[in-house]
Amino acid sequence: MAQLSDDCFAFGGPMMSVDEAVGIITARVTAVGETESVALVDADGRILARNVAAPLPLPPFTNSAVDGFAVPAADLPRDKELMFPVAGRVQAGSSGEPAKAGHAVRIFTGAPMPAGTDTVFMQEDVRLEPSGKVVLPAGLKVGANVRPAGEDIREGHVALKAGDRLRPQDVALAAAFGLTRLDVVRRIRVAVFSTGDELASPGTERTAAQLFDSNRFMLMALLKRLGCKVSDLGILRDERESLAKALKKAARVHDLILTTGGVSTGEEDHVKAGVESVGSLVLWRMAIKPGRPVAMGIIGGTPFIGLPGNPVASFVTFVHVVRPTVLALSGAVPLALLPIPVRAAFSYKKKSGRREYVRVTLRRAEDGALEAVKFPREGAGLLSSLVDTDGLVELGETVTAVEPGERVGFLGYANLL
Ligand code: AMP
Ligand code: MG
Repeated sequence: MAQLSDDCFAFGGPMMSVDEAVGIITARVTAVGETESVALVDADGRILARNVAAPLPLPPFTNSAVDGFAVPAADLPRDKELMFPVAGRVQAGSSGEPAKAGHAVRIFTGAPMPAGTDTVFMQEDVRLEPSGKVVLPAGLKVGANVRPAGEDIREGHVALKAGDRLRPQDVALAAAFGLTRLDVVRRIRVAVFSTGDELASPGTERTAAQLFDSNRFMLMALLKRLGCKVSDLGILRDERESLAKALKKAARVHDLILTTGGVSTGEEDHVKAGVESVGSLVLWRMAIKPGRPVAMGIIGGTPFIGLPGNPVASFVTFVHVVRPTVLALSGAVPLALLPIPVRAAFSYKKKSGRREYVRVTLRRAEDGALEAVKFPREGAGLLSSLVDTDGLVELGETVTAVEPGERVGFLGYANLL
């Protein structure tokens, strides 16, 4: 089971930058060691557990890149076209005879180059005589239209690395190596709770003072995109003892406990006291907006993260705190979020010293540039502000204002995970 060392609690200071917080988390979390073998068809999105070195070169043999005629370098027409008799025919999947001197060999895309040949003329560039001979033009370079063995990947090259999150193209590479299975890190088991007496689960009766729990479903969906095995543990009431008991129980069989709501310092915010009664906790005031405090702790050796209750704050802090924690737990190569430059179509004022995320949609301006249009309202409780936008503009700690036309960094929702 994953362990989070206790000394991170020395960092429970007043206001912490996002980078500092992420650095602390990722440094303190120990990756789960367990791995499992999965079939290639199930490998997408999983974290590779071991380096994969190429067991064969790619392509495995030198072959023709086109349909045409293969000849040896010595016979290449230099100044004027030359006529060759054709001897032999080799198609994809079959091995031809060695070439006869002074002859061209009919060859097809993907077929191995016959011994003695090293250059292929595309069939579009040659002339076939009624005699069956072929006229090859002058000027083709030695080795043209040939794919040498190993030009893509050399045998022994470490082509996939432990910690890589496998993508479809990575799976294709494993298949090209002839592998049928890959060793991956087992899925990270995450327990998800919502907290709050005002919440009703969709599908249950909602009283006049309740709203349906939405964060839990957002968080579970986010976690699934990160490849986690998610346990939906429902809604915890605003009551310390039952909350503590539920968290403690969940800690036994999960790698990470995640809650949303109840981490402010109000009288009815019981997560802090609940966690402290069964484990240890620090409340971080991260210098991030939207964000409010994020709680982090350990319950029986299992990391705990308490996200804020407001949906947008929950989403943003998930991206910056939970995502790196899950990646660290799975031993994944930490991937920095790289904002792409777009043009601001809004003005904005902010405090220096904290990072802010502005919800925006993208549009194509008349000059072709991508422009970020700010969602008109700012509340951290507005789900529509996430639903109706494409991503977040990241404004760094030193920025104090944005004017229309300025270049800003955009993080698309799709790329956040
Ligand atoms: P809290 O952090 O518990 O004080 O909650 C802050 C705000 O977020 C309150 O308005 C809550 O009703 C709302 N909220 C908390 N949890 C959820 C949830 N799971 N789904 C939707 N809204 C929530
Ligand atoms: Mg609450």
